Amino acid sequence: MRILCDHMLGSLARWLRFMGHDTAYPEAMSDRGLVDKARAEGRILLTRDKQLAARVPGAVRIRSVDLEEQIREVAAAIPLRVLDPLSRCSVCNARIEPAPPETVRDLVPDGVRARHTEFWRCPTCGRVYWQGSHWDKMIERLNRLDLRA
Ligand SMILES: [Zn+2]
Repeated sequence: MRILCDHMLGSLARWLRFMGHDTAYPEAMSDRGLVDKARAEGRILLTRDKQLAARVPGAVRIRSVDLEEQIREVAAAIPLRVLDPLSRCSVCNARIEPAPPETVRDLVPDGVRARHTEFWRCPTCGRVYWQGSHWDKMIERLNRLDLRA
């Protein structure tokens, strides 16, 4: 599922990336720019803008400001499941890669280094990921949403 979030949907974009979906979240862009990008890259446009959503075939209008409600709104419109958590950088959407612990040891807090042996790193922005308590909480939250697709 390739997705394009308008600039009002930053949290939603991060969560969709966490779920493993290829999610573009450009800087504020004109409607024309969003329409062109969605078409050129074959992405489903998610937008809070009613008129824009009506103009773009297949676009999903997001009504809620609540993150979990937003995820439900997307799931009601398109098949949306948890593809592969920890496969995409939540910051820049690049595919993250396994990183040997010794290559990230200076980049993570001591406690994390002591408790974890598996790490991933974003080749684009350098952010380091691990399956810590934050990860567990996100998975729990997604499980509670009970997405069916
Ligand atoms: Zn990144």
